[in-house]
Amino acid sequence: MTTNREIEGGHEALLARAVGLLDRDAIIVANAGAGKTYLLVEHYFALLEAGLEPAQVVAFTFTEKAANELKERIVARLRMHPGFEGLPDEVLRDYRAKILNGPIGTIHQYCLRIIEASRSAGERAAVKIVDEALESALQESVLRAYLRRRFEAEDPDALRLLRRFGIRDLGLILERYLAFLPMEPEEGMPLPPPEEEERLLLEAVVRLGEPLWEEIQAQKRALGWMSFADMERRALELLQRPPETLKQFLQPIAHILVDEFQDTAPIQIRLVEALRAQGRAEGKRLRLFCVGDPKQSIYRFRDVDRNLLQKTETEILAGGGEKFDFVVNFRSTPEVLGLVNAFSRGAFPEARDSVAQRHSLAESLARLVEIRPEGDGVGAETYSAAEARRVAEAVASRRGETPLDRIAVLYRASSSAGPLIRELQARGIPYSVRGGQNLFERQEILDLHRLVYFLADPADDLSLVGVLRSPLFLLSDAALFFLCRRDPERGLWERLQEPEALETLEREFPQDAAKAAWALARLRRLLALAETRSAHRLIEDWLRREDLGDLYAAAGGGPQALLAIEQWLDWLRALEEDHAPLRLADAARILREVSVLQPNKTPLGDLVASRDSVQLMTIHAAKGLQFDTVFLIGANRRTHVDYPLLQRVGGSLALKLPETGTKKRKTERYDAIESHHGEEDREEAKRLLYVATTRAENRLFVTMDTEKTRAGSLQGLLLECLGEAAEAWRGPLPPAPAPGAAPPAMPPAPEEPSFEAATRIRETSVSELETYLACPLKHHFAYERQVPTKPADLSEVAGATEIGTLLHAALNALHASPGTGTREIVARLLAAQGRDEDPKLARTLVASLDSYLAGPAAATLRGALEDYSELPFLLRLGAGALRGQIDRLLRRDEGWVLVDFKYAGRAHSAEELLESYGFQLKTYALAAERLLREPLRSVQIHVLNRAESQELRFSPDALSAHAELLESLAAQWAAGGAELGAVEARPACLSCPYHRDLSLCPVPKGRPFRAA
Ligand code: SF4
Repeated sequence: MTTNREIEGGHEALLARAVGLLDRDAIIVANAGAGKTYLLVEHYFALLEAGLEPAQVVAFTFTEKAANELKERIVARLRMHPGFEGLPDEVLRDYRAKILNGPIGTIHQYCLRIIEASRSAGERAAVKIVDEALESALQESVLRAYLRRRFEAEDPDALRLLRRFGIRDLGLILERYLAFLPMEPEEGMPLPPPEEEERLLLEAVVRLGEPLWEEIQAQKRALGWMSFADMERRALELLQRPPETLKQFLQPIAHILVDEFQDTAPIQIRLVEALRAQGRAEGKRLRLFCVGDPKQSIYRFRDVDRNLLQKTETEILAGGGEKFDFVVNFRSTPEVLGLVNAFSRGAFPEARDSVAQRHSLAESLARLVEIRPEGDGVGAETYSAAEARRVAEAVASRRGETPLDRIAVLYRASSSAGPLIRELQARGIPYSVRGGQNLFERQEILDLHRLVYFLADPADDLSLVGVLRSPLFLLSDAALFFLCRRDPERGLWERLQEPEALETLEREFPQDAAKAAWALARLRRLLALAETRSAHRLIEDWLRREDLGDLYAAAGGGPQALLAIEQWLDWLRALEEDHAPLRLADAARILREVSVLQPNKTPLGDLVASRDSVQLMTIHAAKGLQFDTVFLIGANRRTHVDYPLLQRVGGSLALKLPETGTKKRKTERYDAIESHHGEEDREEAKRLLYVATTRAENRLFVTMDTEKTRAGSLQGLLLECLGEAAEAWRGPLPPAPAPGAAPPAMPPAPEEPSFEAATRIRETSVSELETYLACPLKHHFAYERQVPTKPADLSEVAGATEIGTLLHAALNALHASPGTGTREIVARLLAAQGRDEDPKLARTLVASLDSYLAGPAAATLRGALEDYSELPFLLRLGAGALRGQIDRLLRRDEGWVLVDFKYAGRAHSAEELLESYGFQLKTYALAAERLLREPLRSVQIHVLNRAESQELRFSPDALSAHAELLESLAAQWAAGGAELGAVEARPACLSCPYHRDLSLCPVPKGRPFRAA
């Protein structure tokens, strides 16, 4: 029998061999907890020691977070690595910079580099990276218009599909087909031939779908949009026929590392292959070093093919490469690994057991915990309530023993978290929820946003239609279409007010008339209340009074809808705490901004977070993390999979056919594909169990339903894979806290901000507050008495301020229509202002824009991962609030960059710019960081007419000092401001127009000011 020590010795030798393998390809299969990142870091250093430069080693990670972590680990190891110890500081600094700027990142980041590198010199960026939400919004609008045209043209395919499926299902089928098109076909399988009708309908789908796809691509090209999938396809095309500039960019590459190889999608594998092929064309052999674990492949929904690792392994071995299996586990105690191994033997017979490197601790434990609900008959506890209660009690019993953020509760579906959250809240146990569906994409949240938009602007017909057809009011599309068509010149809300509108509805759509009347009454009441309440209070009161959360839950959203609404309300409350009690117009504006900026940052539940809190998350969100104690709950729930109408396997399609009413029939071919996917889902569920259980270091508890094991549930799979061994792991949860021990008191609920408080909030602009800081008296002249400092400019000649404003507007227009020429943009702008007769002004603007865009400063604007122009903000400052607008906020590989555009008559040094614009830029940086909830990488000033730029960096200390200054100014102002008669002369008097030009201010002459 092999002992741990022997395995450990073997592990060291294996590690040394894998780390130092530089002359052939390698595939590393590393069980969870085997130190995969350590292995990658050491291999990276072996490459550097062999003489490679960081720029020659391309490393692909699965996420940006993983890329940053890998870079940090490499940089941290730099000083301690034996091969680099004792090197002079400047050499190490140089290495550090090269590593941080080197090609370590996600495949998408590298695709972007490939696309950038393929542009010829001077060519401008003509693409804007868009996320799935924007792409699907575009797709939906193109699809609607496309179908309308095809129906009008009496296209036989469109009509055939419409007759059989109806408009809604036809839309779903085409959307599904569009989703298949960019995917690489997975492994095929023998299938029964389609039934005759199925074949005809499938052919119609293909004939209808292909041109639709082309139309969507053409629209994206026209808009300059590129999705992540487009980026991969474009990079692959470029690699297959690389232009000279790309060949030069690729020339240094010598080695490719791929982390989390099991989660790499087929097109990404082709990208790696294309990189290697390009190397071969240049006479080089690029070595591949892939690290992964097939047992942790849990991204089938992202087109990841679990067989890929196997295929790549076969190819690597056939090409003379080596495979390494790492089984020593540095993470978990023997108790936890005992359960993991027992399960793995049944689930993955081909895999090797993990070997514990850690020792047992007194409290180490791994258990399958049977939960028994309390009570019988009516009023008996449900299983999920009992499970939530017992887990919350077990967490409470560990309070003080284990830091709360080292305890995780994992589940497959977010809805499992609801009952537990209520139990934790009842015990005053703080919690954070992570993972799950993006909050801002959930239907109930979209509807609530539309409601806020409508209440803020009753002329917003689009939002009103969204609200009326939502589960809040449930008006039919036909009735809404009818209402919108009547007198389209006037707004829908205005038309709804007329008694005649309801009377006509009563005649034409009797089922909708009562709903419309109900909606009208509710919305009128909300509009009236909006005059006196903050946005949060208004919406929360209404939702609770009318039980609208339950309505959404009943309408198909289930408990997740309730949870999402609760979290959205929490978030809105927090927003008000940040920004002052919000009037609806401000809430609507901020919701629009945040919905655009935050989607990827706010998955369901990420909103309630605190440092010392129990971590609640989906198993997917837990990947890559580890905790002292892990509870796996909801294991007996079956995930309901509603297989769509159109299915695919290996490039073959099948359809469910309509029968009677809404019923659909599975064809034999469809059934075969569905069984295949069912089996694949089952295999993935085993891998989910492996990922969940291997997150535990010391204690692992899987809760089980004693009454019944549902087929297809995680519990069923776990018990099946454990077989008879399951008995050995059954046991109770640790005891609940002793009866009588009072739960810690809940913190008092924050007081609801009242509208009266809101009236005290004074809003101002950045320049107004800066003027006040320079001199309260100057502020009095400029903003309260509004004394102009110059006579009105009646000439037709544009001054510097006007040119600067026009250049800002032109850049904004270029941002909205990338790829449009500067001449065209300027012509449109001037025409809109009635200045199209001014060729000199047009020439000045075009020349300034062209010189700026061709200069180095504008490079920052190209290739951003996210890019926002003219972003408005409201910065809460105690009793006041600052309004402003950020010229450009961009997310680049290296982090967020804020750009402020200026127009200046002469060159300025960085010090001069800081002196002139420091106040403004620090304020913008503060607002941006509060909005993003993460630090900026840098702030840049771009001087448009001089093609110059300066980069400024504000330390956290500088920004927090600036926030204090703003707060104290706002407080002083709210308290009535400075005593104007006590203002004394100051340096600003030297250039102050109220003294120098207008002789209005007597202070510089030593006389006090007396208000007129
Ligand atoms: S002259 Fe001096 S004191 Fe008077 S308003 Fe101007 S800056 Fe203020």
